[in-house]
Amino acid sequence: HPSTTDLQAQDAAHHMHPFTDEAALAQKGARVIVKGEGVWLTDSDGRRMLDGMSGLWCVNIGHCRAELAEVAAAQMRDLAFSNTFFQTSHPPAIALAAKLAELAPGNLNHVFYSSSGSEANDTNIRLVRHYWACRGKPQKQVIISRKNAYHGSTVGSASLGGMAAMHAQGALPIPGIARIGQPHWYREGGNMTPEDFGKARARELEEAIHRIGPDSVAAFIAEPVQGAGGVIIPPDSYWPEITAICEAHDLLLIVDEVITGFGRTGNWFGSQTFDLKPDIMTIAKGLSSGYMPIGGSMISDEIADVVGQAGDFAHGYTYSGHPVAAAVALANLEILETENLIPRVRNHIGPYLGRTWEGLEDHPLVGRAETCGLMAALALTPDKARRAAFAADEGVVGEICRDRAFANDLVMRHVGDRMIIAPPLTITEEEVDELIRRACKALDETHAILRQ
Ligand code: PLP
Repeated sequence: HPSTTDLQAQDAAHHMHPFTDEAALAQKGARVIVKGEGVWLTDSDGRRMLDGMSGLWCVNIGHCRAELAEVAAAQMRDLAFSNTFFQTSHPPAIALAAKLAELAPGNLNHVFYSSSGSEANDTNIRLVRHYWACRGKPQKQVIISRKNAYHGSTVGSASLGGMAAMHAQGALPIPGIARIGQPHWYREGGNMTPEDFGKARARELEEAIHRIGPDSVAAFIAEPVQGAGGVIIPPDSYWPEITAICEAHDLLLIVDEVITGFGRTGNWFGSQTFDLKPDIMTIAKGLSSGYMPIGGSMISDEIADVVGQAGDFAHGYTYSGHPVAAAVALANLEILETENLIPRVRNHIGPYLGRTWEGLEDHPLVGRAETCGLMAALALTPDKARRAAFAADEGVVGEICRDRAFANDLVMRHVGDRMIIAPPLTITEEEVDELIRRACKALDETHAILRQ
């Protein structure tokens, strides 16, 4: 490949990056990744980095498994593209749909394919509104989501999400979206116990339903554990209360499993970890371990029946059920299954990460260390007793720590002043130890910078 300097110059000249301060990046130059293997990435200067984020929470089986490359090549030779519109289908889309129906919780026996989580959530907005219209309740339109939720970047999915910075650009949200708070006890729980706070946050859903009018609310959407919002693991009291409120007011429950699906929390789906009964489930990322772009909406028998009986659902993407993406996703599910990667997260490597990660609470900057399966967060604070925020703008310290981790060849993410990891499910104990060592070094260096 060309030299790092040439790559960086061309990148700065022609490539606009997602969620990136381009001016700052142009000064620094992008770190150009040329290779992956397991939990490791290699950059264009030959430096190896430990990928603590599985790319963007997606490379569940680890980087660059040759089996998937072979499946993709074989499928491209057989049938590189065929659509699933009108009255056609093809074996990879069919086999994957059947497998997903087998794995999904409850009666989510139908999949509507997309190429991403954003597109799948756009499908969900149209689907739930259309469903209620088919049921003779066209006024049931409003979807309630949560503050700081990330459900994607298209106009629909970004509207569904609760990120203020996204709404500030491009005149979002679209009409018919409402929002409640997030169950973020560490920062927002005040003097309440986590359990009381979890219940109080769930009851905001009931208050919102009364405010909007129960006849106007179509659905509630949430992640089992909010990911990009900061790995917010809800108190135990939260989900039972939410579930009861959805049932009492005839709301559909859309569970966004884009991050929590495919083993991340120690079960196939976070819905199983938290005992949820979704009517619709959003999937993407770990579905193919990021090897191909593919996502979808898993849909209940009831919704599929009602919508199916009503004629055309006028919706679809050229790449819905793309044959190569579907074949690769199916092979990825087989690897997760045959290598027992998910029970391994639940019973072995998840608890191992939990124990070692908790040790970071001894660090002077860390107020709380939390894990759920192989997703983990550290709440940074200048005052552990008060769970206080830093005096500087939220996120400044987190960004310093993220940069120190990067300089120590660990990919770690920050959400405000929370430090996040979600490594591949294949990570070994030795690699967890190495990850913790590098995270600790990043924390020490951040602490030193703050004291200067
Ligand atoms: N939903 C959740 C919970 C996500 O974390 C993401 C992406 O990070 C999305 C949806 C959007 O998925 P995509 O980036 O594939 O469009």
